[in-house]
Formats: sequence, C-alpha cells, structure tokens
Amino acid sequence: MLNINQLNYTYLPQHKNEVPMALSFDVQLEQGDIAALIGPSGAGKSTLLALIAGFLVPDNGDITINGASICQLEPAQRPLSMLFQEHNLFPHLSVFENIALGINPKLKLTTEQKQRVIDSAKQVGIDTYLERLPEQLSGGQRQRVALARCLLRDRPLLLLDEPFSALDPALRAEMLTLVKQLAKEKNITVLMITHSPDDARKIADKCIFIDDGKIKTAGVTQTILDNPNIPELKKYLGLTPTVI
Ligand code: ADP
Ligand code: MG
Repeated sequence: MLNINQLNYTYLPQHKNEVPMALSFDVQLEQGDIAALIGPSGAGKSTLLALIAGFLVPDNGDITINGASICQLEPAQRPLSMLFQEHNLFPHLSVFENIALGINPKLKLTTEQKQRVIDSAKQVGIDTYLERLPEQLSGGQRQRVALARCLLRDRPLLLLDEPFSALDPALRAEMLTLVKQLAKEKNITVLMITHSPDDARKIADKCIFIDDGKIKTAGVTQTILDNPNIPELKKYLGLTPTVI
C-alpha cells in the first residue's frame, strides 16, 4: 500500500553549532495496517510524516501509494489525510464547517454532501455540537472534529502526529479505540507517531522505531516492545540500567 524506497532528506544547519542531519527511510505497509512510529525526540518522526504528506521535498528516493508515486503531487492532491496534536481546526468556522472543509474548501455542499458531514460527525460522537465554534469544545471534542474531517475525505492513508498527546489518559485510550475501530471498518492504513509505548500497544499491529534519522528496527508491535532487540530501543524504553 505505502512503499517508501530509499528516501533521503538532509536538514542543513540553521544556526551556528548545528551539524547537518541526514535522514533516510524505507517503509512498507499493507492496506489496513495500523503502524506506530516511536523514537526519541528529534529522531525524525515528524520529518518522515512531512515527507509523506508533501510538506518537505526529499533529496532522492520515492514514495508510492498503491503502486503510484506521489512525489510529484501537491500535498492537497495526495491520497492521505493528516492530523496534528493541535491547531487542526479553523477557529472562526463552526464544527459543521470545519468538517465540511474535508469535502469542499469553498464550503459549497450538495444536500448529499451535507448529510455526509452529519454522518461523519455521528461516527465520532460530536453530532450534537455542529453549530459550535472550536473554542466552545474540549480538547478531546476538537480532535474528534478533526478526525471526522479526515474520515470523510475517504483517503486510504491517515497520518497522525501525536494526535492525542495533550489529552488525559482515559480520553486518549477512548480516542485510540475510536481510530482503530474506524480505520478497520474503512480499511484505512494508519501511521501514527506516539510518545507512548502503551498507546502503540493499544492501536498498532506494527511498530517502527526511529532513531537519529533512521529506522533502526520494525516489526510486530508486541514483539518489538516485549523483546527490544537493539540497544537504542532498550534505552528508549527505559530498560537499560543507568549507573548513578
Ligand atoms: P521528531 O518528530 O522525531 O521529534 P523531527 O522530525 O521534528 O523529530 O526533527 C528531526 C530533527 O531535525 C531534529 O533534530 C530537529 O531539530 C531537526 N529539524 C526539524 N525541523 C528543522 C528545520 N526546519 N531545519 C533544520 N532542522 C530541523
Ligand atoms: Mg515530532
């Protein structure tokens, strides 16, 4: 489904004392896979998603979705949706309008499309808030609105960059269950950055560990997390004894 082949990207130093950072990635996901992307802060996780989404242009290498290269496509044309930790909604637009943007950026909708917005809001449990503005919602409800917009776009790949990190544990667990259920129902492939191995266990079949701009190991989530096979991963999981 998603194939990333020898994708290279270099961050050039922006300030004194910085050194260039070379990132390179190879990833293969099947349709319907849910994969967690874990790794230390600054490892390159968000950069990988930005490359897939088209916000950054790789130095070389290729990204294909269902066999077709997406590298020449503008971000909006790529067959994917993306959800960030926050700032996914336009503050001056209602919940209904924020979701409707997923269908038409000009917000001109047919009756059938309006119904799709309502159905999508129902799926994530926020259909009673359609007239509200984002500021009148809780953080969890705002992420549900953003998720509704992603889902109604019907794109085969969903990219999540720490989408629920700002939420309380119980709410986070609820959102993960919801994403998993909807992704399985719609057979959407999900690539989710998370800081929590527990979150990875809850949602992801596969787990990809990134460190220093490279994928150091990947595989079945339980195997990767229960039997970390490389020192970097052990250290990340806090399993390396530290001398104090
Ligand atoms: P992660 O999401 O894993 O925390 P990022 O992908 O955001 O990491 O960043 C990877 C590395 O690239 C970090 O070392 C970061 O400081 C650096 N970086 C991020 N954005 C830029 C930028 N615009 N210019 C230069 N370096 C950057
Ligand atoms: Mg990041």
